[in-house]
Amino acid sequence: MKPIPFFSLESQHEQIGRDLEKRVSAVVSGGNFILGRELEEFEKAWANYSGVPYCVGVGNGTDALTLALMAFSVGPGDEVIVPAHTFFATWLAVKRTGARIVPVDADESTFNISVELIPEAITPGTRVIVPVHMYGQSCDMTSIGRIARDRNLLIVEDNAQAQGAAWLEKRTGSYGHANATSLYPTKNLGAIGDAGAVTCFDESVARRIIRLRNYGMDAKNIFPECGINSRMDELQAAVLTFKLHYLDAWNTRRREIAAQYLAALESIGDLMLPLSAKEAYHVYHIFAIRSERRDQLKDYLQKNGVSTMIHYPLPPYRQEAFRNLALDPGQFPVAERISKTVLSLPVWPGLTDDQVTHICDLINRFFRDHL
Ligand SMILES: *Cc1c(COP(=O)(O)O)cnc(C)c1O
Repeated sequence: MKPIPFFSLESQHEQIGRDLEKRVSAVVSGGNFILGRELEEFEKAWANYSGVPYCVGVGNGTDALTLALMAFSVGPGDEVIVPAHTFFATWLAVKRTGARIVPVDADESTFNISVELIPEAITPGTRVIVPVHMYGQSCDMTSIGRIARDRNLLIVEDNAQAQGAAWLEKRTGSYGHANATSLYPTKNLGAIGDAGAVTCFDESVARRIIRLRNYGMDAKNIFPECGINSRMDELQAAVLTFKLHYLDAWNTRRREIAAQYLAALESIGDLMLPLSAKEAYHVYHIFAIRSERRDQLKDYLQKNGVSTMIHYPLPPYRQEAFRNLALDPGQFPVAERISKTVLSLPVWPGLTDDQVTHICDLINRFFRDHL
């Protein structure tokens, strides 16, 4: 069998490449590249898809998170609760506002922030909880919503890994006071460059983000505050509006692949398979398994033509960039265990059943031959 990459857009390009190129040329010949009709159209489409009244398109996911926090004037003196187990950018966005990063350990079964541990992390300085829907599975938004209401806190969802996911009847990105997503090319909904979006319910919040993403400008040459420059461009907006039509079908295919893995990898060696909460509609941005022999398994798969990845080998609290926070890794035993054992298998929608079977056979053989 041909090598299987960890991620590929080849099949997506075969499916929609020609139409996509037509959209791109239309934007090029239209000659309007920033803050035009394409962006308005995407913002409407994404708000509608997410089940919220407002969406503001921005430059990338990190800026989307930053702007969502800035919209509530989160800054120095405030504390923001984030998961210990997440991508670096979640923490970076909080850091950029000047607020204090307060990490909470992960839940062993879902990889998401531990809801039980959130109350202990709340102080009088706490303003926001940032739940991150890791790997495509929604956090427990019922419990997090209850905590936020009881303690008068804001919720800003990091929905970068979970476009199309849901908790109960509602999509992720519709639970928080403002919610950020990344539309980076490898996400479940991906642009052909950098892009991101914020969703929210409150018109005044949307207005503030619209201002903040455009230097802090209101009317032409009127600047009531200092913002940043982070606008989703017309090209990305046109591509995303078009691709959004396929998101549900692509997510369905991801779920089929996940189901195939779950069935074929049951009770093999010390493998731990991902669990999903019954309330969650998991869209498997990442299919993460765990094993004490993760590194050997990764090498074995690579030698046999299957590329995998680790999300993430070095958690944010172990990064040089956050050394000044002086966090003791011992505070996050679950995140520590995850980072040392987790392995992401290919799960992109273009994978065939035969390819998935082949990957499962290799994993079976690894545990048979290496016991
Ligand atoms: C991808 C990602 C981001 C950052 O998005 P960018 O568009 O790359 O800035 C933030 N948080 C999480 C959880 C992500 O996976």
